[in-house]
Amino acid sequence: MQRVKISITGIVQGVGFRPFVYNLARSMGMKGYVLNSSNGVTIDVEGQQIDAFIERMLSSPPALARIKEVDFVVLPSCEYKDFIIKESLDDEGITLISPDVCICGDCLNEIFDSRDRRHRYPFTNCTNCGPRYTIIKDIPYDREKTTMAPFIMCPECEREYHDPKNRRFHAQPNACSTCGPHVELNIKNEDLKVYENEEPIKATIEILKQGYIVAIKGIGGFHLCCDATNEYAVGRLRQRKRKSNKPFAIMAPDIKSIREFCIVDETEEKVLLSPEMPILLLEKLKDSAIAPSVSPNNRRHGVMLPYTPLHHLIFHGDDATKADFKALVMTSGNLSEEPIVIDNNIVMERLRDIADAFLINNRGIYMRTDDSVCTVVEGKPRLLRRSRGYVPMPIEIPFDAPEIIALGGELKNTFTITKGGYAIISQHIGDMENQETMDFFEESLRNLRNIYRAEPVAVAHDLHPDYMTTRWAMDSGLKTIPIQHHHAHIASCMLDNGIDGNVIGVSFDGTGYGTDGRIWGSEFMIADMEDFRRECHFKYVPMPGGDTAVREPWRMAVSYIMDAFGDSYRDAFESLGFFERYGEGKIKNLHIMIKSNVNTYLTSSAGRLFDAVSAIIGLCDRATFETEAAISLEAICDETVLDSYPVNIIASTPMVVDFSQTIISIVNDIRDGFTKEVIASRFHNTISEVIGRVVERISLSSALKRVVLSGGVFQNRFLIQRTLMNLRKKGFKVFIHERVPTNDGGLSLGQAAIAIKRMAREQNG
Ligand code: ZN
Ligand code: ZN
Ligand code: FE
Repeated sequence: MQRVKISITGIVQGVGFRPFVYNLARSMGMKGYVLNSSNGVTIDVEGQQIDAFIERMLSSPPALARIKEVDFVVLPSCEYKDFIIKESLDDEGITLISPDVCICGDCLNEIFDSRDRRHRYPFTNCTNCGPRYTIIKDIPYDREKTTMAPFIMCPECEREYHDPKNRRFHAQPNACSTCGPHVELNIKNEDLKVYENEEPIKATIEILKQGYIVAIKGIGGFHLCCDATNEYAVGRLRQRKRKSNKPFAIMAPDIKSIREFCIVDETEEKVLLSPEMPILLLEKLKDSAIAPSVSPNNRRHGVMLPYTPLHHLIFHGDDATKADFKALVMTSGNLSEEPIVIDNNIVMERLRDIADAFLINNRGIYMRTDDSVCTVVEGKPRLLRRSRGYVPMPIEIPFDAPEIIALGGELKNTFTITKGGYAIISQHIGDMENQETMDFFEESLRNLRNIYRAEPVAVAHDLHPDYMTTRWAMDSGLKTIPIQHHHAHIASCMLDNGIDGNVIGVSFDGTGYGTDGRIWGSEFMIADMEDFRRECHFKYVPMPGGDTAVREPWRMAVSYIMDAFGDSYRDAFESLGFFERYGEGKIKNLHIMIKSNVNTYLTSSAGRLFDAVSAIIGLCDRATFETEAAISLEAICDETVLDSYPVNIIASTPMVVDFSQTIISIVNDIRDGFTKEVIASRFHNTISEVIGRVVERISLSSALKRVVLSGGVFQNRFLIQRTLMNLRKKGFKVFIHERVPTNDGGLSLGQAAIAIKRMAREQNG
């Protein structure tokens, strides 16, 4: 006889771990008990096959479990009579919460099985699947502390819930059509009133088929939905929801359908089918059935598969109502840049001018989450927006960490809480430029602090004095630790890759406040997780009109041309037709602004250089959303073009990259009749060569061989692929993001890492 007490930490609660242990122990004739503690799961077990039991337990845990650490203590036998599941212990510690995951295969079979009692029930779930983070109000994870509390289980559900042999043992959101939540269709458009008395899902299918827009309540909020192959429907949605070209995400019924409009390789297929089911960016096929206005001037579609039972029912239809959708637009249900809406009444008020009907339900969403966005680079999934399916899955911090919060930046905001050796990154909050988003930030922060019982002792924030998050930090009463934006990007990528020590950091993005009060965005640095030294940046150029220049890339084009051509800029404008395009008066105004330094900042932003080139070659002179100019420039790149433009690297301290020769060459290329495709590709090659040359120089003086790339500009696949190739050829080891976004969505993790290291240094004197 042997007896061992086993403690397991990680995501082991609410994922069916106890019944799994219970069934395994019983099947092997083991005695003892299993229980949930606030650290994870504790198992006290004795019997003949202890080693085999442990091995089997650790080698095939439940699908959603994530084991972090296992601890064993051998104890004297106490002759347990049976193996049981004991009541939870409430001790100190950290309980990890599972993210929301897509419907599992077993549940899917049930909803399409006409003999099953959950046939066509849109809220079917079990311990292996369904909502988690979005419905949890507090811990321990019990039904009373979720938005399922108002639903009293029927006797049959109750029986499943209490049966350790059942897949629904302690599945907190367990429900069926007798006792659980229901859908309801609320029709606003008078022309559709005929569907009022039909079964809601069938009516939704009919309405969508006819090209109308339906707001559908999902896991983390509402989606606005329409037929993605119907240009009229998509155009109407675009007109009503946002006056921009920002791409809409689409959902397709299966991989086979996706292959009709996008290229899907093996890794991409795996990511699409993973339980997190993110939106995946996929290369478009030419001439597909997808409406052009789904993602204009973009090389890719954002595509996902159905992840809730309701999605499957909408795509599947039934014998009488054939759905046959090739793809549906599924974009966040919100107005322009506001957070995704979750409340039935608010949604019907806010989106009344957008949706023709509302498919609502009475299962409350406590925490809103958007769909996550992912891209595959070099055979690995890389998250660009980390939300549903991933949050609040923690990232391990490989060094001692006090409890702090890091607030992130202004755009694509997330925040990070540290607790018990983990960094918990919030879901995507959004652009902090309206009160709704600020409220969402505070609501999520309150909730995550509560469910992790976090007591932060300090708050890390961006250096920018005017960010809403900076003001929040100042008002928090906590010790504040300001962190430079681009340094945070690099630290984020280091932690993402689990590396420490000195590296060469290359941080390219649109905007970040510099230590000299200027707008940075093309930063080469020698950095570790505590400090950085700026080694090189692009030459500062004026941004006439400040933020207006971000929305109007043609202003950056004017600025770069004036900078490159000096006094002979008139000729350049004339040969580019700028006077006809923008008006001589307007260009003169910009000239005056630049010369007299009125409403003009200096910037080293790489994003603004991409904007300028996009406008110079006539692709995008007014951006309807952030990064549109750069995306349209990347979209036309041609991989067969290998040459590049001249650039001047000035050997000052820090070094400065001057693109005057590049700009002059681009203007000459236009004059000489080269295509936009060739010019765009040459420009991308130029940037990747500049990175190679500058990194080489920094390496010569520092002997560093590790290069970390971060910042929003590296969402550009053409650029990242060329740059990786270039740097590796020169013998560098290169790190890019994987689990957290390379854009500002990853900032808060980097801020947290730097703040923790600095606090440790302070403590050690
Ligand atoms: Zn399931
Ligand atoms: Zn029931
Ligand atoms: Fe940034």
